[in-house]
Amino acid sequence: MCVESTRWILTRVARATCAFLSSGQRSFEDIGIRIDAVTPAYQVKIGSGMGKRITHAGLKFATIVALAVALAWAAAAQSDWSAPDPTVISKFQDEGSQHSHIMEVLGYLTDIYGPRLTNSPNIKEAGEYAVKTLSSWGLANVHKETWGPFGRGWSNELFEANEIAPRHFPLIAYPKAWTPGTNGAVTADAIYAKIEKEEDFAFYRGRLRGMFALTTPLRVIEPQFEAPAHRYTDQELADLAQPRPPQPPPDKETRDRQRKQQEFNAKLVKFLTDEGAVAWLEPAPHDGGTLTVMGGGSRDPKDAAVLPRVAVDVEQYGRIFRTLEKNIPVTLRINITNKFYDDNLDSFNIVAEIPGTDKPDEVVMLGAHFDSWASGTGATDNAAGSSVMMEAMRILKTCGVKMRRTVRLALWTGEEEGLLGSRAYVAEHFADRNSMELKPDHAKLSAYFNVDNGTGKIRGIYLQGDEAVRPIFEKWMEPFKPEGMSTLSARGTGGTDHVSFDEVGLPGFQFIQDPIEYETRTHHTNMDVYERIQAADMKQMAVIVASFVYMTANAEQLLPRKPLPKR
Ligand SMILES: [Zn+2]
Repeated sequence: MCVESTRWILTRVARATCAFLSSGQRSFEDIGIRIDAVTPAYQVKIGSGMGKRITHAGLKFATIVALAVALAWAAAAQSDWSAPDPTVISKFQDEGSQHSHIMEVLGYLTDIYGPRLTNSPNIKEAGEYAVKTLSSWGLANVHKETWGPFGRGWSNELFEANEIAPRHFPLIAYPKAWTPGTNGAVTADAIYAKIEKEEDFAFYRGRLRGMFALTTPLRVIEPQFEAPAHRYTDQELADLAQPRPPQPPPDKETRDRQRKQQEFNAKLVKFLTDEGAVAWLEPAPHDGGTLTVMGGGSRDPKDAAVLPRVAVDVEQYGRIFRTLEKNIPVTLRINITNKFYDDNLDSFNIVAEIPGTDKPDEVVMLGAHFDSWASGTGATDNAAGSSVMMEAMRILKTCGVKMRRTVRLALWTGEEEGLLGSRAYVAEHFADRNSMELKPDHAKLSAYFNVDNGTGKIRGIYLQGDEAVRPIFEKWMEPFKPEGMSTLSARGTGGTDHVSFDEVGLPGFQFIQDPIEYETRTHHTNMDVYERIQAADMKQMAVIVASFVYMTANAEQLLPRKPLPKR
């Protein structure tokens, strides 16, 4: 008997059992199963109800038999999901380790084209590079897909900042994205304006014109006892595998306080701008020469302009602040040239494919966000993920493996501003997340795989609440256990582009990665640069992604899904 017909029978029995157990019916005959209890060798036959009514003991025994059969069916169903072929995996490993292009690609995305703020000239050039590179590898359908509007582009062209008096020293500082420049070098005094509540505005009205304004009090800087890089221990991975302990949502008081703080900040920016301060100097999160720098102005060209805003290294901010506290005047000289680009408010995602052989209209996707913030070169966030995904495509293409479904790479923009590129793509191709209106291709995407947790190697995968994929991923993970991939997390994780798929009921997965200097040093900082990338980890990731994509492309069925979210 072929596997298919055995499975058909087992399926029928299992479904009937489930129906029986849940229906409360008293006879198996009612649901088309005849149980013949004449001999100790109980027979279960499938057919239309010809059998006699069964006894209570017979029913109990029959239930056990049927349950056993149902379990056998479940096991048979799982056998669809075969383990990876070791010869294919070693092919991927050989290509990914001996002939890797991953650090070359990463070098271009960071040193040559970085940083890649969405809609900046840099990201447009980086996009051209990616299209050219993907095409040179022989991938199909390589193109940019427009989405939008995103808003205006922005770039920093020049930045100089020095304390002139009482002593000279250069500032470690960066302009915030989407803020204007200073129209040439400005030499002026710094002032600490202690504005903490609305009543404080009146005191400083008329006192800030032509000054560099500091408004943030000093914070305590603790010594760094912990190493910034870390590999997950077995215990940490075991904890990560468990469902997230329930966390109470922020109470109303906290939410109100946060909302009020945001409203106050908006008033403060407007006040400083209206009062004619030259620039607003803000101590950046992090310390030790590392600064988190994000946006400080609007992408919408219709919004009112703000004053120049500069994120300053906290130790140097501290020196200026403490000097002012001693009533010693501080003179700074700052020169910022920033440019806005209003000619095209739309942005783009980059797409490339390997067409499927016999199910080309079914699709497996892999992707990462291509954009970054603007102070470093966006190496770990997320040239790393982009390079891993490009390299995974190159490995699959170069190894020439047969893949039944179409494999599609997407590199997103606008992720840092709210998953904008991937959400636009999902809305265009799969589903409207607000109405949950589905497009036909929603039924044809097997899964989307994402990498966006820095340079650390893969240690597992977040199941995102899709427990039905657990036994499948368990098998697919097997060849990579020696390389440290061992954990299937019952948790979901958020904050990046797999969410755009997950929120419309498509299987979207993010890998668990070692936290190599990510939250502690590189994430959105000026130190997010090439040197912080670990080449061996990057290569491991590309081979694992290639393997998961390959298995998804060749499976008998699409990956099982969670129920559709309700709107
Ligand atoms: Zn990111």
